[in-house]
Amino acid sequence: MLSHGMNIALPLTPAPVPATEPSLAGATRAGLAQALREAGLPAGEIKMRAAQLWHWIYHRGARDFADMLNIAKPMRERLAERFTLERPQIVAEQVSSDGTRKWLIRMNPTGPRDKGAEIECVYIPERDRGTLCVSSQVGCTLTCTFCHTGTQKLVRNLSAAEIVAQVLVARDRLGDFPGGVAPTDGIVPSGEGVRAVSNIVFMGMGEPLYNFDQVRDAIGVLTDGDGLSLSKRRITVSTSGVVPQLEALGRDCGTMLAVSLHATNDALRDTLVPLNKKYPIADLLAACRAYPGASNARRITFEYVMLKGVNDTPAEARALVRLLKGVPAKINLIPFNPWPGTVHECSDWERIEKFSDIVFNAGYASPVRTPRGRDILAACGQLKSETEKLRARARLMLEETLAMGQD
Ligand code: SAH
Ligand code: SF4
Repeated sequence: MLSHGMNIALPLTPAPVPATEPSLAGATRAGLAQALREAGLPAGEIKMRAAQLWHWIYHRGARDFADMLNIAKPMRERLAERFTLERPQIVAEQVSSDGTRKWLIRMNPTGPRDKGAEIECVYIPERDRGTLCVSSQVGCTLTCTFCHTGTQKLVRNLSAAEIVAQVLVARDRLGDFPGGVAPTDGIVPSGEGVRAVSNIVFMGMGEPLYNFDQVRDAIGVLTDGDGLSLSKRRITVSTSGVVPQLEALGRDCGTMLAVSLHATNDALRDTLVPLNKKYPIADLLAACRAYPGASNARRITFEYVMLKGVNDTPAEARALVRLLKGVPAKINLIPFNPWPGTVHECSDWERIEKFSDIVFNAGYASPVRTPRGRDILAACGQLKSETEKLRARARLMLEETLAMGQD
C-alpha cells in the first residue's frame, strides 16, 4: 500500500509551544461574552463586541487580534494580553492518492501537566462537497469489538471549543477562509459557491452522545449563520445507540442522525456493541421512530459493518429490512476496516453484494462504494507507533461518510 505516491506522513509544524493564555478559537457566543467581561469591557458593549469577534473568528478565520481593524486598538491589545486565537496543531498529515487527508491533531494543553490530547480527523473531498469526520472524545468508554477506538480507554471528553477547532484547523489547512490558499497536493472540491468543508460527520473517535452538552454547543457554533454557517442537514451525528439522549439530540440540534446497528438480533448485537445490553434493539428502534424531525425527507441512516461470518448472511439482510419497517431509514453497508490485533475480517465482496441486493430490492438505495483513502488507512499502524497515546483507528467507513448529508 505504501507504493501509493502521496502516502507520506508529514510533520507540518514544529513542536508546539504551549500557550499560556486561553484560546478563543472555538468559543461559543457565551464564552466570548465571558472573555470580554474578563478583559474589562463595560457591560453595555459586550454584545456588540462579541458579535464583532465572532465575525472575525468564524467568518473571516482571523488568527490574530491585530487584524480586527474595526475593533479599537487598545481593546485589541487588551484581548491579545489575555487570550490567543491559537488552534490545535496538525502534527502529522497523510494524503491519499484519492485526495483523502488524515490529520493527527494535538489539542492545546489544558494545564501544565497536559501534553495535549491527540485525535484524528479525516477529510474526504468530492467534486461537489467536502466532508470532515470529527472526533468528540479522546478514546471511548464503549468497547465495540470491531472498533479500534474501543480498545483505547477514554482519555477525556473534548470541549465544544476543541470540536469546533477541528473544523477551523481543516479550513485553515484547506485554504477555506477568505484569502486562504488551497493545498496543491490533493483534490479540493471546486465550483461556484462550493466550500472545501461543506459537510461534517461525528464519526471520528468517541461516542458523541456521551459528551452531549459539548457536542450540542459545538453544533450551535458550526451552524450559526453569522459564522461558519454550516447547514444542519449537512451535519450527521453517529451514535452506537445511547437511547436516552436521542430525543434531546433531535430536539436541540436538528442535525441528521446515524445509528450504528450492525446486528439484527440482541444476542449478536450484545457482543458487537456491548451498549446493546443496556439499550436493546427494540428500545433503540422505538427511540428512532420517535426521533424529532425524522421523515422520509430526513431519514435516519443505519450503519451496518460487514463482518465475515458474523452478520453477513442473506437471512440477516432480510431481517434488517424487516426490522426497519416503518422507520424513515437509509442503510449504509460498511466494509470492515481491519486493524492490527482484530479478530474480525471484512466480508467477501460477493457476500456484501448479495446483502446489498436484498436491501436494495426492499427499496433502500445502499451503494457500497469503493472505500476512500484505503492507502492511508493502511498506514494507521505507523501513526500509532509515532504517537504512543493515540490508537490510530484503522477504520473510518469512508464510503459511509460519502453517502452522508446528501441534500
Ligand atoms: N461512537 C459513534 C461514532 C464513532 S464510530 C458510533 O459508534 O456510531 C463511527 C462509525 O464507525 C460507527 O458506525 C462504527 O460502528 C464504525 N466503525 C468502527 N470501527 C470500524 C471498523 N473497523 N470498520 C468499519 N467501521 C467501523
Ligand atoms: Fe466507541 Fe463508536 Fe468505536 Fe463503539 S464504534 S467503541 S461507540 S467509537
